Amino acid sequence: MVKLPESQGKEIFRQYGIPIPVGRTAGTPEEAASAVGPGGVPLPCVVKAQVLAGGRGKGGAVRFAATAAEAADATRAILGMEFKGERVRSVLLEERLAIDRELYVSLALDRSLRVPIVMASGRGGVEIESVADEAIVRVPVHPFAGLASYEKRRIGQALGVPGGSGKPLDRLLDSLWRLFNAEDAELVEVNPLAVVGDRLVALDAKVIIEDDASFRHPQYAEVRDDRTPLEEIAREKEIAFVQLDGNIGVIANGAGLTMATLDVLQEYGGRPGVFLDLGGTDDPAKVTEAFLLMAQAKPAAVFLNIFGGVTRCDTVARGLVAALEKVPPAERFPLVARIRGNNETEGIAILREAGVTSLGDLKASAEAAVVAARGGAR
Ligand code: GDP
Ligand code: MN
Repeated sequence: MVKLPESQGKEIFRQYGIPIPVGRTAGTPEEAASAVGPGGVPLPCVVKAQVLAGGRGKGGAVRFAATAAEAADATRAILGMEFKGERVRSVLLEERLAIDRELYVSLALDRSLRVPIVMASGRGGVEIESVADEAIVRVPVHPFAGLASYEKRRIGQALGVPGGSGKPLDRLLDSLWRLFNAEDAELVEVNPLAVVGDRLVALDAKVIIEDDASFRHPQYAEVRDDRTPLEEIAREKEIAFVQLDGNIGVIANGAGLTMATLDVLQEYGGRPGVFLDLGGTDDPAKVTEAFLLMAQAKPAAVFLNIFGGVTRCDTVARGLVAALEKVPPAERFPLVARIRGNNETEGIAILREAGVTSLGDLKASAEAAVVAARGGAR
């Protein structure tokens, strides 16, 4: 998922003619001090942590400053923070506008309606999940025609802002729509959209680019995201690998079985930590690679749950045994295997030769994995 930091989202807003406050980023308190004042960001200003998580306002990661010295102090305080697990590396300094009202506007893909949808609310500035349903207007957008005038007026009514051609609201909605399409976004969110006198200004920007379209937008390739270093390696190798905060590694095949396996472990008191979806592969080398990646995540135990189809049981067993030989003894972990389906007998025989028993029963094997992770007997 290519989720852009606010400063980059706002840069795109500027390109599409969406009004944003005058602003600059800074990586140190000194940079912040020289970014504000005459010729730079007007004072008083707002200092905002550039992190991907939201809720900065409530979490002390948005501060106000009236002088260059205060801007430097606020920047120092924010840079020293760890915000929701993310280290703050830079801040955005912006002119502090006199806000009359805070609104919410977003464009997202509605996967059940299968069209983009505008969501708008007069109660902006708070997380949209906490806004009552009746206070949100939802307008599906025709993918080819875009927003019709009457639809924009309807949004304007809901926001309490005059619509009509040439008005700031209509221009904003048209710009958001152009941006959404041309950048292949799956979400463009402005929260808050501030009413400042007769202007509408985007005070915050959240832009998520559709992963499957990222090849069309190489300019976003450098955007850091939430991936861990191991997830990054997995991504390069095209292995579906996700790190959670538990301690049991799960290797399964297919999203359905993988998710069900996580649920079953949870059910028996286990905490799944890493999961790896082998998908459909007929290459033992790929299984080996995936398994070695799993080993690097240092799980307390690993539960291998395979239903052999395209991915045959013997392929998995061969790949697994090859990987086990490469894991240094000090880094070994208990392994519980359950392989069923295509070429099951061959697979089980290969595992047995390497000293791994495959249990047939899901409950028994999940329980064994949970016990093994607690450091009990295999
Ligand atoms: P978030 O909490 O991470 O979504 O961060 P936002 O960018 O939405 O900022 C949080 C809040 O800070 C906003 O809802 C505003 O109330 C306030 N804020 C941000 N920029 C300005 C500004 O220029 N002027 C004023 N007065 N308040 C601002
Ligand atoms: Mn916001």
